[in-house]
Amino acid sequence: MGMYDDIKFEIKCPNCKNKMDNFQSKNGPCIMIELNFYQVDRFYASCLNCNTWVEFNLYNRPNKKITINDYNKTVKIPTPEEQEAHRKKYEEFAKLIYGSKNKNANQEGDGK
Ligand SMILES: [Zn+2]
Repeated sequence: MGMYDDIKFEIKCPNCKNKMDNFQSKNGPCIMIELNFYQVDRFYASCLNCNTWVEFNLYNRPNKKITINDYNKTVKIPTPEEQEAHRKKYEEFAKLIYGSKNKNANQEGDGK
Protein backbone atom coordinates (compact mmCIF):
# COMPACT_ATOMS: atom_id res chain seq x y z
CA MET A 1 0.00 0.00 0.00
CA GLY A 2 1.24 3.46 -0.92
CA MET A 3 4.15 2.01 -2.86
CA TYR A 4 5.36 3.26 -6.21
CA ASP A 5 8.48 3.45 -8.36
CA ASP A 6 10.60 6.50 -9.10
CA ILE A 7 10.85 7.62 -12.72
CA LYS A 8 14.13 8.89 -14.14
CA PHE A 9 12.80 12.05 -15.75
CA GLU A 10 12.98 15.76 -15.10
CA ILE A 11 11.49 18.92 -16.52
CA LYS A 12 11.12 22.52 -15.48
CA CYS A 13 7.79 23.25 -13.82
CA PRO A 14 5.46 24.72 -16.51
CA ASN A 15 4.30 27.28 -13.94
CA CYS A 16 7.25 28.39 -11.76
CA LYS A 17 10.21 26.87 -13.70
CA ASN A 18 11.39 25.02 -10.60
CA LYS A 19 13.18 21.73 -11.39
CA MET A 20 10.79 18.76 -11.14
CA ASP A 21 12.60 15.43 -10.74
CA ASN A 22 10.21 13.70 -8.34
CA PHE A 23 8.20 11.74 -10.91
CA GLN A 24 6.53 8.51 -9.80
CA SER A 25 4.51 5.71 -11.34
CA LYS A 26 2.38 2.80 -10.19
CA ASN A 27 2.63 0.94 -13.53
CA GLY A 28 5.82 -0.89 -12.54
CA PRO A 29 6.43 -3.39 -9.74
CA CYS A 30 5.90 -0.61 -7.11
CA ILE A 31 8.87 -1.62 -5.00
CA MET A 32 10.54 1.81 -4.85
CA ILE A 33 12.98 1.14 -7.68
CA GLU A 34 14.02 3.60 -10.39
CA LEU A 35 12.53 3.10 -13.87
CA ASN A 36 12.94 4.89 -17.18
CA PHE A 37 9.84 6.80 -18.27
CA TYR A 38 9.40 4.68 -21.42
CA GLN A 39 8.94 1.59 -19.26
CA VAL A 40 5.61 2.87 -17.91
CA ASP A 41 2.40 4.18 -19.50
CA ARG A 42 1.63 6.75 -16.80
CA PHE A 43 3.82 8.84 -14.52
CA TYR A 44 3.32 12.09 -12.67
CA ALA A 45 4.60 14.57 -10.11
CA SER A 46 3.50 17.70 -8.34
CA CYS A 47 5.89 20.64 -8.16
CA LEU A 48 7.34 20.93 -4.64
CA ASN A 49 7.44 24.71 -4.97
CA CYS A 50 4.00 25.62 -6.40
CA ASN A 51 2.07 22.30 -6.33
CA THR A 52 1.42 22.25 -10.09
CA TRP A 53 0.43 18.75 -11.20
CA VAL A 54 2.17 17.32 -14.28
CA GLU A 55 1.11 13.96 -15.67
CA PHE A 56 2.22 11.97 -18.73
CA ASN A 57 0.03 9.28 -20.30
CA LEU A 58 0.90 6.92 -23.13
CA TYR A 59 -2.35 5.68 -24.69
CA ASN A 60 -0.93 3.82 -27.68
CA ARG A 61 2.42 2.12 -27.31
CA PRO A 62 4.11 2.65 -30.72
CA ASN A 63 6.18 -0.04 -32.44
CA LYS A 64 9.30 2.08 -32.25
CA LYS A 65 11.52 3.71 -29.67
CA ILE A 66 9.23 5.65 -27.36
CA THR A 67 10.01 9.33 -26.81
CA ILE A 68 8.41 11.75 -24.40
CA ASN A 69 6.51 13.26 -27.38
CA ASP A 70 4.46 10.05 -27.63
CA TYR A 71 2.97 10.85 -24.22
CA ASN A 72 -0.08 12.98 -23.61
CA LYS A 73 0.91 15.70 -21.15
CA THR A 74 -1.55 17.09 -18.58
CA VAL A 75 -0.73 20.17 -16.51
CA LYS A 76 -2.92 21.44 -13.69
CA ILE A 77 -1.79 24.76 -12.30
CA PRO A 78 -3.32 25.62 -8.91
CA THR A 79 -4.94 29.02 -8.40
CA PRO A 80 -2.66 31.73 -6.92
CA GLU A 81 -4.48 31.25 -3.58
CA GLU A 82 -3.82 27.50 -3.63
CA GLN A 83 -0.18 28.09 -4.53
CA GLU A 84 0.17 30.52 -1.63
CA ALA A 85 -1.46 28.02 0.76
CA HIS A 86 0.93 25.32 -0.43
CA ARG A 87 3.96 27.55 0.09
CA LYS A 88 2.80 28.43 3.63
CA LYS A 89 2.27 24.75 4.46
CA TYR A 90 5.70 23.92 3.05
CA GLU A 91 7.35 26.70 5.07
CA GLU A 92 5.67 25.50 8.27
CA PHE A 93 6.81 21.98 7.52
CA ALA A 94 10.40 23.16 6.99
CA LYS A 95 10.24 25.15 10.25
CA LEU A 96 8.96 22.09 12.09
CA ILE A 97 11.79 19.92 10.76
CA TYR A 98 14.72 22.32 10.95
CA GLY A 99 13.44 24.58 13.74
CA SER A 100 12.84 21.79 16.26
CA LYS A 101 16.20 20.23 15.50
CA ASN A 102 17.96 23.45 16.49
CA LYS A 103 15.85 23.81 19.63
CA ASN A 104 16.74 20.29 20.76
CA ALA A 105 20.40 20.98 20.13
CA ASN A 106 20.20 24.11 22.34
CA GLN A 107 18.37 22.28 25.11
CA GLU A 108 21.03 19.59 25.17
CA GLY A 109 23.68 22.29 25.37
CA ASP A 110 21.95 23.92 28.37
CA GLY A 111 21.80 20.66 30.35
CA LYS A 112 24.07 19.97 33.37
ZN1 LIG B 1 6.16 24.94 -9.81
